[in-house]
This record gives sequence, C-alpha cells and structure tokens, in this order.
Amino acid sequence: MTASTHFLRETSYRALPPEFFAAAPVSPPPAPQWVVFNGALAAELGLPEGAATPELLEWLSGGAPPQGRENIALAYAGHQFGQWNPAMGDGRAAIAGEIAAPDGAVYDVHLKGSGPTKFARRGDGRATLSSMLREYIVSEAMAGLRIPTTRALAVVATGAPVYRETPQPGAVLTRIARSHVRVGTFQYAANEDARRDQGPLLTKALADHCIARLYPEFSGQPDRYLRLYAEVVARQARLVAQWMAVGFIHGVMNTDNMSVSGETIDFGPCAFMDSFNRRQVYSSIDNDGRYAFNRQAPIAAWNLARLAECLLPLFDADADVALIRAEEMLESFRPAYGAALAEGLERKLGLKSGDPANEAFIAGLWRLLDGSNADFTLFFRRLTRVAGGAGDADFLDLFAQADAMTREDAARFLSDWRGLTAGEDFSARLELMRAANPIVIPRNHRVEQALAAANQGDLQPMQRLCAAVKNPFREPAAPENPEDDLEAPPRPEEIVQATFCGT
Ligand code: AMP
Ligand code: MG
Repeated sequence: MTASTHFLRETSYRALPPEFFAAAPVSPPPAPQWVVFNGALAAELGLPEGAATPELLEWLSGGAPPQGRENIALAYAGHQFGQWNPAMGDGRAAIAGEIAAPDGAVYDVHLKGSGPTKFARRGDGRATLSSMLREYIVSEAMAGLRIPTTRALAVVATGAPVYRETPQPGAVLTRIARSHVRVGTFQYAANEDARRDQGPLLTKALADHCIARLYPEFSGQPDRYLRLYAEVVARQARLVAQWMAVGFIHGVMNTDNMSVSGETIDFGPCAFMDSFNRRQVYSSIDNDGRYAFNRQAPIAAWNLARLAECLLPLFDADADVALIRAEEMLESFRPAYGAALAEGLERKLGLKSGDPANEAFIAGLWRLLDGSNADFTLFFRRLTRVAGGAGDADFLDLFAQADAMTREDAARFLSDWRGLTAGEDFSARLELMRAANPIVIPRNHRVEQALAAANQGDLQPMQRLCAAVKNPFREPAAPENPEDDLEAPPRPEEIVQATFCGT
C-alpha cells in the first residue's frame, strides 16, 4: 500500500466468518474520471489534503486496489416487496476498506457500480451516471437536513456505457456509511444457521460485529443482544419520524435496504413530496403502494419484526421467553416513533413543547393538508414567514386552488396556531422553526433536470443543486433568472409523477 491511500484501512468485515463475504473481482474501467469529489466530507473524515489522487481514482472506479489489497462483496438476503429472497448480496458493489474519522467513528468505504461480483446473478454489476448522481444529491440533502444518512465521497465516471433501455454513461459511487449490515444481512445469517443446524453461529458473529462496531457500550453486558435490538428499533423510529417531517419517501424499504446503524441507505426511487398526499407513491415499481408515504412507519416495524425473528435465539435460551422479550422491544417502536414525530412537528410549527393541546392541533394539520394539494415544504416555509411577521396572504395562497371548506379550514388553522403559539418565549421557538423547516429540498423536477444535463456533459445544474441542498435552512440569494429558483414547486408541466430505479 502506498502513502497516497493509507487512510483507507482494511475492512473489519474480514474478521467475520467467510460465509459473509467474497472477494470482488477487479474490473478496471477504460477511462475513469472524477465527476464529483466531496471535499467537505473528505475533511470531516480526516482525509489528507489532496486525497483525490490518480491512485485513489483507479481504486474507487473499480480498478485495481493498491498492492496487497482486495475489495470484498458482502452477502445478504431480504424481503423485496414482502417476497423472501434468500440470495442477494452486493451484486454490483464492494467494500474497499474503512476510515477511522477524527470523531472516533469508523466508516465503511463502499463502491457501488464497481463491476459484477459472485452475487450479481443476472445483473451486469454496473450503475448509470444518473442514478449515482441521484444518490449523491439526495444523500447530501439528507445530511444537510441533519437526518442520519449514508453519504457519498465521490462519483467517478467509468468511460464505459451501461446498457439499460438505451446506452447510458456508467459511473461508480463511493458510499460512506457507519455500517453496511442490513436487516437482510441478519436474515442471511439466520437462514444459513437454520440450514446448517449448528446453532446461531453466524447470527451471533454478526451481532457481535455490530456491537463492537456500532454499540461498543453494550459489549460484555449479559443482555447485549436485546440492547442491540432495542437500539436498532429506537433509531429506526427516530429516522422514519425525521423522514415524515420533511416529506421524504424512501420508496424501496425492503429489509435489505434498512441498516442496523439507523442511517438512511439505498437511494433508489426515493423522492421528496411536492403537494401533500398521505398516500403518495413515486416509485414506478411500487404498484400496490407498499412503501407509500404514510406506510413508512408500519413497514419499518414489519422489517424490525423480521430482524427480531433472526435474533430470537440470542435473546434467551428459552424460546418462549425470547419471544416475549422480542415483542416487548418491538412494541416500543410505535410510541418512540409517535414521540419523535410529535417533537419534530412541535418544532416545525413553533408550538410549546409538550403542550397537551398540541396533539389535537397536529391531527388537524394532517387533515388540513390531506386533500388540500398544498406544497408540503412551502406550507412550513410560509408558516415560518408568518411567524417572522409576514402577512397571511402568501400562506393562504397555498390553498387558493382548494375548495371553499378547505380555504376556511386553512384560515382557522392559522388563527388556532396563533392562539397556541403566543407566549413570551416565541422568539426562541421561531428560531427552532427556522432550523426545522427547510427552504431548499432536492425537488424531483430539479433533480431530473440536473441529471439530464449531467448526462449531456453539463454538471453545472447538479453542482448548483448540491450546493443549495447542503444548506437547506439558509435563505438563498434571489435568483437572477426565475428559471433558477430552487425553492419553487414544479409548474404543472414539470411535475414528476413517477421515479424509476433506473439503476
Ligand atoms: P437494490 O434494488 O439496489 O436494493 O438491489 C437489490 C439487489 O440487486 C442487490 O443484491 C443488488 O446487488 C442487486 N443488483 C442491482 N442492480 C444490479 C446490477 N446492475 N448488477 C448486479 N446486481 C445488481
Ligand atoms: Mg439495496
């Protein structure tokens, strides 16, 4: 290993039993080129200045790792749209190593689109530039919104076409994550254990890995596996509540796309909602709306039940006791989610924390939004402006197209809101509102426009969008050209109706 990549140390997944991974073949692309390198993230991770060397470019594009190193692909299973698939794994991805950040946390360095692995089956192991840039933009937005998320250190163009319906430019994304252990990794371990009938050997090894890596405070504790599970439940509850508070729809909450670290992972057909609809679905393949906006919490709980099934033998030697423990933990999901969402909405609305009147008011908020067609992000943005002293007109204008009853409801909402929020500490709550209600989100039409331009070789719209979404609470400078207004909702002809995996 030469000096220029020394910060990328050997991955700790290698210490797991060999069933969990396979060497990823080297697959050098013809003409690797940096498309984006995330300098801010590199600095946070403690990477040296000038880390983006040609040697790193070669490695991160799927080419040869430095001497003596090898990338590995991880095995996993999962429920895809509720259907059990025992054999998935990193079909087009690989772990290159890990980074110990200055804050003491350890991060995986994962390459997505780096070539076919043993787990690829029929896939080509590749990724399109536009789907990798999509993950880059949206994961940076999530980080800007302070929502736990995997991030992207780089996108590298390979110079080779990827064949989907048409040939498209190919790329590899470097993903940074606290862990790549998914609910589906535990499902893989438990399924293999059951097949071999040797006791929960693989499940225990995986759980011990997660504790050591993510939750070292539980190591050595007699109830460490229950604590591990309880922590994953608590983190998912908070995570989904945070998604709901910004109108984020993950789109493909299969068990293999849910991380035990509580980070948002796998940005496929995800989207931020424009006009509010609690049943909103964007993903073109989610025909039954399994992963609709308002189903995200119950689906997270469903996935967590699958995780509990895997961990049962570690909870207690007595199967009945283990089941009761698992149930108790899983039951904590609903209240934890409800509390996190209520707290988030109290901040977004500038309400007094814990006021008993808040619950009914928030229920009324969802009723008002539903069927109003109001833009979700602008609703809170304009309410924040009203809170800051602007008149009511802009806020009420969000309901201009609604029926008379909804317009009356909106006016009543505003007067009820004034009644609830008045108080001496209002200026402090106004600051909380400003810090909770984003001004710029990666609106679907803007993402599509940026990706279309990038496919034509123009990276400027993508760079502008990324710069804005990294600071979503900052008042943007008024754009010279109204076409460049990233805050504005789509015009009718710009509305994105469906997102495609477009992998
Ligand atoms: P995803 O839909 O990205 O969560 O991926 C689901 C599964 O399909 C994972 O096992 C991936 O590794 C695999 N997969 C997706 N796209 C490809 C591809 N182009 N080549 C090989 N495997 C793939
Ligand atoms: Mg996935």
